[in-house]
Amino acid sequence: MMLSIFLDPPLQKINHPIAIKADVELYILRLDLMHPQINGNKWFKLKYNLLEAKATKITTILTFGGAYSNHIFATAVAGKLNNLQTIGIIRGEEHLPLNSTLQFAISQGMKLIYVDRKTYKQRNNIEFQNQLQEQLSQLGEIFIIPEGGSNLNGLKGCTEILSLVSNISKFSSICLACGTGTTLAGMALSLTSSQRIIGFPVLKGGEFLNTDISHILSNYQSSELLGNWQLVCNYHFGGYGKVTQELINFCDDFYERYHVPLDYVYTGKMMYGVIDLINQGFFHSERLLLIHTGGLRYSGMQLN
Ligand SMILES: *Cc1c(COP(=O)(O)O)cnc(C)c1O
Repeated sequence: MMLSIFLDPPLQKINHPIAIKADVELYILRLDLMHPQINGNKWFKLKYNLLEAKATKITTILTFGGAYSNHIFATAVAGKLNNLQTIGIIRGEEHLPLNSTLQFAISQGMKLIYVDRKTYKQRNNIEFQNQLQEQLSQLGEIFIIPEGGSNLNGLKGCTEILSLVSNISKFSSICLACGTGTTLAGMALSLTSSQRIIGFPVLKGGEFLNTDISHILSNYQSSELLGNWQLVCNYHFGGYGKVTQELINFCDDFYERYHVPLDYVYTGKMMYGVIDLINQGFFHSERLLLIHTGGLRYSGMQLN
């Protein structure tokens, strides 16, 4: 597998006045800087999926995503780098001109197939997947990766994220943004007993992830459930892909001060939440590690 182009992610210290006042040391793990294109957590979720496809000699990967999906973007480039044909099943109709994610996917050789929202809901249904295999049978056997790379292979890859931090035991809490919670679950499996991980769901009503994450963890290891993680569900800013002017201003200001680009969908919401919680006294006198999971910025998002 093509790994040589990856850099070890740097740790960046953030001297934020609110953190300094609360005696909190803030560090960001810049997974967004590991590779110019496969940035963030999506690489870790792809790694064992691509290895399994290669081991079973399957040369075509199929996966699912929305038109702005970071996972579609990462799969397209990872496929190309590993000589795998890629197919993206895209939710909704084709809109021309294509946005930069889909343009990029095509430039990497990904074949895009658009399906309506109702059909897209069938994406995890085995019969629907068999139907896709049949329709695309001229491409040979196809390896299917679920939306977001969120399967057990994806989870396994995420257990490796924190091993990239040489002094990880210095951190008492680790924070990250959650979509499906797979990345959080993988990281929770790799913590020591004195550490906790705090997830910030970016979807409205993110409490449902408590059940999902417990489920993911129990599928992976049947031993007793981990109690080292928790969710903070009130920094969704109206829901997935929704933004407010306040969030935009926060991200822009953060970039100006610390040169860390935050996307409005994931990392911006997490960072806003962390600073707000420090201000409220939730974190004090400790060393926090914040995971920059990557993500791209788009203009023209829906203001809430
Ligand atoms: C996909 C994604 C996440 C969410 O990962 P999950 O494992 O689904 O929780 C977080 N941040 C960014 C930038 C992402 O692209």
